[in-house]
Amino acid sequence: MRLILLGPPGAGKGTQALRIVQRFGIPQLSTGDMLRAAVTAGTPTGLKAKSIMNSGGLVSDEIVIGIVADRIEEPDCKEGFILDGFPRTVAQAEALDGMLEKKGLNIQCVLELLVDQQALVGRIIRRAEDAQALGQPVRKDDDPEVFKTRLAAYNRDTAVVAPYYAEQGRLKQIDGMQPVDVVTTAIMAAVGE
Ligand code: AMP
Repeated sequence: MRLILLGPPGAGKGTQALRIVQRFGIPQLSTGDMLRAAVTAGTPTGLKAKSIMNSGGLVSDEIVIGIVADRIEEPDCKEGFILDGFPRTVAQAEALDGMLEKKGLNIQCVLELLVDQQALVGRIIRRAEDAQALGQPVRKDDDPEVFKTRLAAYNRDTAVVAPYYAEQGRLKQIDGMQPVDVVTTAIMAAVGE
């Protein structure tokens, strides 16, 4: 099964993606996680991405598309995958269609988590507090001001991605403001479980 999880930062994509991973045994491909790993490892990609990520902007399509193209060639993606945080622009969505088409594959389901953006800043502050309480590192881009830039980037560049899939009849929308378990149940129903 190949799925895409769309929604603004803080909508709960990462949490829900983990549950899909557990249920279907397919890997979660989070471009944010992959880029953070590249930054930590100090790779050339990481060096290019670091300041953009810290300021809340979008890393170039070229870099992100390259990362995903390499990742979906890995053996663990044979049975499918869930994309979290990608595609974030229509150019990325078109590139993904192109890569999959070459392999005779497609995306079966695109899920969009619908959330009240006013509530997201509060959620992100809690995420930073929870991480701190657990002694985990707090993401630099979970700072409330940087988060607002991320939200602006979402509204400017990424909000058009859901309509791209809706036009193709592939989009399913889920109320992401419900309790986490209820959202999971709705997702499972949407993917036909
Ligand atoms: P995330 O963990 O998905 O919130 O992503 C964290 C940051 O990584 C974003 O704010 C962007 O700077 C960068 N990023 C992640 N995925 C993408 C993408 N598909 N396109 C461009 N930038 C991305």
